[in-house]
Amino acid sequence: MDSKQIMELSKKIRKGYTPGQYLSENSKTCVSINLPIQGHCKPTKRCLQDCYGKSGHTALPGNLRKQRFMSKCLEKQDLTHLIQECLVYSSVRLNGIGDMNPSHLPAIFSLAKACPQTEFWGMTRKVSIANRVNGKSLENLSLLVSVDTTSPKAVWKYPGALCFGPRRPEDKVPNDKRIVTVFPRHHAGRVIGNVPSHPKDCPAVRHTISGCVECQQCWDWK
Ligand code: SF4
Repeated sequence: MDSKQIMELSKKIRKGYTPGQYLSENSKTCVSINLPIQGHCKPTKRCLQDCYGKSGHTALPGNLRKQRFMSKCLEKQDLTHLIQECLVYSSVRLNGIGDMNPSHLPAIFSLAKACPQTEFWGMTRKVSIANRVNGKSLENLSLLVSVDTTSPKAVWKYPGALCFGPRRPEDKVPNDKRIVTVFPRHHAGRVIGNVPSHPKDCPAVRHTISGCVECQQCWDWK
Protein backbone atom coordinates (compact mmCIF):
# COMPACT_ATOMS: atom_id res chain seq x y z
CA MET A 1 0.00 0.00 0.00
CA ASP A 2 1.50 3.37 -0.95
CA SER A 3 1.29 6.49 1.22
CA LYS A 4 -1.68 7.88 -0.73
CA GLN A 5 -3.65 4.70 -0.14
CA ILE A 6 -2.74 4.74 3.55
CA MET A 7 -3.98 8.35 3.79
CA GLU A 8 -7.26 7.39 2.10
CA LEU A 9 -7.73 4.41 4.39
CA SER A 10 -7.10 6.37 7.58
CA LYS A 11 -9.54 9.06 6.33
CA LYS A 12 -12.20 6.37 5.87
CA ILE A 13 -11.53 4.92 9.33
CA ARG A 14 -11.77 8.40 10.87
CA LYS A 15 -15.08 9.06 9.08
CA GLY A 16 -16.57 5.81 10.35
CA TYR A 17 -15.53 6.41 13.96
CA THR A 18 -18.08 5.59 16.64
CA PRO A 19 -17.09 5.55 20.33
CA GLY A 20 -17.81 2.41 22.37
CA GLN A 21 -19.67 4.60 24.85
CA TYR A 22 -21.11 8.01 24.03
CA LEU A 23 -21.08 9.26 27.62
CA SER A 24 -17.71 10.02 29.16
CA GLU A 25 -16.86 8.69 32.58
CA ASN A 26 -15.80 11.08 35.28
CA SER A 27 -14.84 10.27 38.87
CA LYS A 28 -16.73 13.32 40.20
CA THR A 29 -19.83 13.64 38.04
CA CYS A 30 -20.14 9.91 37.16
CA VAL A 31 -20.90 10.53 33.49
CA SER A 32 -20.99 13.50 31.18
CA ILE A 33 -21.55 14.56 27.60
CA ASN A 34 -18.25 16.11 26.60
CA LEU A 35 -18.02 18.57 23.73
CA PRO A 36 -15.04 20.22 22.05
CA ILE A 37 -13.51 23.39 23.40
CA GLN A 38 -12.53 24.67 19.97
CA GLY A 39 -15.46 26.27 18.16
CA HIS A 40 -17.70 25.73 21.19
CA CYS A 41 -16.32 27.56 24.25
CA LYS A 42 -16.47 31.28 24.85
CA PRO A 43 -13.67 31.44 27.40
CA THR A 44 -12.89 34.25 29.79
CA LYS A 45 -9.29 35.27 30.41
CA ARG A 46 -9.30 33.10 33.55
CA CYS A 47 -10.72 30.13 31.63
CA LEU A 48 -7.98 30.42 29.05
CA GLN A 49 -5.40 30.22 31.82
CA ASP A 50 -6.96 27.58 34.06
CA CYS A 51 -9.23 25.37 31.93
CA TYR A 52 -8.84 21.75 33.08
CA GLY A 53 -10.06 20.47 29.72
CA LYS A 54 -7.23 21.72 27.55
CA SER A 55 -4.56 19.42 28.95
CA GLY A 56 -4.19 15.99 30.48
CA HIS A 57 -6.52 13.04 29.87
CA THR A 58 -9.39 15.01 28.33
CA ALA A 59 -7.08 16.50 25.70
CA LEU A 60 -5.72 13.18 24.43
CA PRO A 61 -6.38 12.66 20.68
CA GLY A 62 -8.93 9.88 21.30
CA ASN A 63 -10.93 12.07 23.67
CA LEU A 64 -10.82 15.07 21.31
CA ARG A 65 -12.17 12.83 18.56
CA LYS A 66 -14.98 11.66 20.82
CA GLN A 67 -15.85 15.27 21.73
CA ARG A 68 -16.12 16.15 18.02
CA PHE A 69 -18.24 13.05 17.43
CA MET A 70 -20.63 14.05 20.24
CA SER A 71 -21.00 17.55 18.85
CA LYS A 72 -21.98 16.13 15.45
CA CYS A 73 -24.24 13.54 17.06
CA LEU A 74 -26.22 16.28 18.83
CA GLU A 75 -26.30 18.50 15.75
CA LYS A 76 -27.70 15.65 13.67
CA GLN A 77 -30.10 14.69 16.47
CA ASP A 78 -28.82 11.17 16.19
CA LEU A 79 -30.05 10.21 19.65
CA THR A 80 -31.04 6.53 19.71
CA HIS A 81 -27.81 5.28 21.25
CA LEU A 82 -27.37 8.25 23.56
CA ILE A 83 -30.89 7.87 24.97
CA GLN A 84 -30.21 4.21 25.75
CA GLU A 85 -27.11 5.16 27.71
CA CYS A 86 -28.67 8.10 29.55
CA LEU A 87 -31.73 6.09 30.66
CA VAL A 88 -29.46 4.02 32.91
CA TYR A 89 -28.21 7.02 34.92
CA SER A 90 -29.99 9.22 37.45
CA SER A 91 -27.93 12.21 36.35
CA VAL A 92 -25.84 13.22 33.35
CA ARG A 93 -23.65 16.28 33.29
CA LEU A 94 -23.82 18.46 30.19
CA ASN A 95 -20.66 20.12 28.90
CA GLY A 96 -18.34 18.13 31.15
CA ILE A 97 -15.76 19.52 28.75
CA GLY A 98 -16.51 22.28 26.23
CA ASP A 99 -19.77 24.13 25.80
CA MET A 100 -22.95 23.91 23.77
CA ASN A 101 -23.79 25.76 20.60
CA PRO A 102 -27.38 26.69 19.65
CA SER A 103 -27.31 23.86 17.09
CA HIS A 104 -27.16 21.32 19.96
CA LEU A 105 -30.25 22.51 21.79
CA PRO A 106 -33.02 20.65 19.89
CA ALA A 107 -31.21 17.37 20.67
CA ILE A 108 -30.73 18.29 24.33
CA PHE A 109 -34.46 19.04 24.69
CA SER A 110 -35.36 15.74 23.01
CA LEU A 111 -32.92 13.87 25.23
CA ALA A 112 -34.39 15.34 28.42
CA LYS A 113 -37.91 14.47 27.26
CA ALA A 114 -36.92 10.92 26.32
CA CYS A 115 -35.26 10.30 29.71
CA PRO A 116 -37.59 11.89 32.28
CA GLN A 117 -35.98 10.02 35.21
CA THR A 118 -32.51 11.35 34.35
CA GLU A 119 -31.37 14.75 35.58
CA PHE A 120 -29.49 16.68 32.87
CA TRP A 121 -27.47 19.44 34.46
CA GLY A 122 -24.31 21.39 33.85
CA MET A 123 -22.69 24.74 33.26
CA THR A 124 -22.31 27.12 30.36
CA ARG A 125 -20.45 30.36 29.78
CA LYS A 126 -23.12 31.44 27.30
CA VAL A 127 -26.05 33.39 28.72
CA SER A 128 -28.05 32.89 25.51
CA ILE A 129 -27.78 29.10 25.92
CA ALA A 130 -28.75 29.23 29.62
CA ASN A 131 -31.75 31.42 28.81
CA ARG A 132 -33.02 28.92 26.26
CA VAL A 133 -32.37 25.82 28.37
CA ASN A 134 -33.73 27.16 31.65
CA GLY A 135 -36.60 28.90 29.84
CA LYS A 136 -37.76 25.55 28.51
CA SER A 137 -39.07 24.60 31.97
CA LEU A 138 -38.21 20.94 31.62
CA GLU A 139 -38.07 19.59 35.16
CA ASN A 140 -35.00 17.45 34.53
CA LEU A 141 -32.90 19.98 32.60
CA SER A 142 -30.98 23.00 33.86
CA LEU A 143 -27.77 24.94 33.42
CA LEU A 144 -25.82 27.21 35.71
CA VAL A 145 -24.00 30.15 34.12
CA SER A 146 -20.29 30.04 34.99
CA VAL A 147 -18.68 33.27 36.08
CA ASP A 148 -15.24 34.22 37.35
CA THR A 149 -13.35 37.37 38.24
CA THR A 150 -12.67 38.06 34.54
CA SER A 151 -16.23 37.54 33.24
CA PRO A 152 -17.69 40.45 31.27
CA LYS A 153 -20.22 42.66 33.06
CA ALA A 154 -22.96 41.51 30.69
CA VAL A 155 -22.58 37.92 31.94
CA TRP A 156 -22.82 39.06 35.56
CA LYS A 157 -26.19 40.58 34.71
CA TYR A 158 -27.68 37.14 34.11
CA PRO A 159 -30.54 36.94 36.63
CA GLY A 160 -30.52 33.17 37.17
CA ALA A 161 -28.32 30.71 39.04
CA LEU A 162 -24.54 31.00 38.76
CA CYS A 163 -21.46 29.03 39.62
CA PHE A 164 -18.19 30.77 40.39
CA GLY A 165 -14.87 29.43 39.19
CA PRO A 166 -12.21 28.57 38.56
CA ARG A 167 -11.34 30.38 41.77
CA ARG A 168 -7.74 31.24 42.51
CA PRO A 169 -6.45 31.92 46.05
CA GLU A 170 -6.61 35.68 45.51
CA ASP A 171 -10.20 35.67 44.16
CA LYS A 172 -12.96 36.95 46.42
CA VAL A 173 -16.31 35.25 45.93
CA PRO A 174 -19.01 37.93 45.74
CA ASN A 175 -21.72 37.73 48.36
CA ASP A 176 -24.36 37.02 45.74
CA LYS A 177 -27.39 34.82 46.31
CA ARG A 178 -27.37 33.72 42.68
CA ILE A 179 -24.08 31.85 43.21
CA VAL A 180 -24.95 28.24 43.91
CA THR A 181 -21.55 26.59 43.74
CA VAL A 182 -17.93 27.70 43.94
CA PHE A 183 -15.23 25.75 42.14
CA PRO A 184 -11.71 26.18 43.48
CA ARG A 185 -9.22 25.95 40.62
CA HIS A 186 -8.53 22.27 40.18
CA HIS A 187 -6.99 19.82 37.78
CA ALA A 188 -6.91 16.01 37.68
CA GLY A 189 -8.87 15.77 40.92
CA ARG A 190 -6.68 18.16 42.92
CA VAL A 191 -7.19 21.75 44.06
CA ILE A 192 -4.36 23.88 42.71
CA GLY A 193 -2.83 26.35 45.13
CA ASN A 194 -4.02 27.28 48.58
CA VAL A 195 -7.55 28.31 47.64
CA PRO A 196 -9.43 29.28 50.82
CA SER A 197 -12.51 27.25 51.67
CA HIS A 198 -15.90 28.73 50.93
CA PRO A 199 -19.29 27.50 52.24
CA LYS A 200 -20.48 26.98 48.67
CA ASP A 201 -17.40 25.01 47.56
CA CYS A 202 -18.05 21.94 45.44
CA PRO A 203 -17.62 19.14 47.99
CA ALA A 204 -16.39 16.69 45.35
CA VAL A 205 -13.50 18.97 44.43
CA ARG A 206 -12.68 19.14 48.16
CA HIS A 207 -13.08 15.32 48.36
CA THR A 208 -15.53 15.43 51.24
CA ILE A 209 -18.06 13.34 49.29
CA SER A 210 -17.77 10.76 46.56
CA GLY A 211 -19.53 12.69 43.79
CA CYS A 212 -22.43 14.64 42.38
CA VAL A 213 -25.18 12.08 42.97
CA GLU A 214 -24.52 12.39 46.69
CA CYS A 215 -24.64 16.20 46.53
CA GLN A 216 -26.96 17.54 43.79
CA GLN A 217 -26.12 21.15 44.73
CA CYS A 218 -25.74 22.15 41.07
CA TRP A 219 -29.30 21.21 40.14
CA ASP A 220 -31.25 21.32 43.42
CA TRP A 221 -31.47 25.11 43.21
CA LYS A 222 -34.39 24.88 40.74
S1 SF4 B 1 -21.31 20.98 43.84
FE1 SF4 B 1 -22.15 18.92 44.01
S2 SF4 B 1 -23.39 18.63 42.16
FE2 SF4 B 1 -22.05 20.40 41.80
S3 SF4 B 1 -20.23 19.57 40.76
FE3 SF4 B 1 -19.79 19.57 42.97
S4 SF4 B 1 -20.40 17.56 43.73
FE4 SF4 B 1 -21.34 17.84 41.71
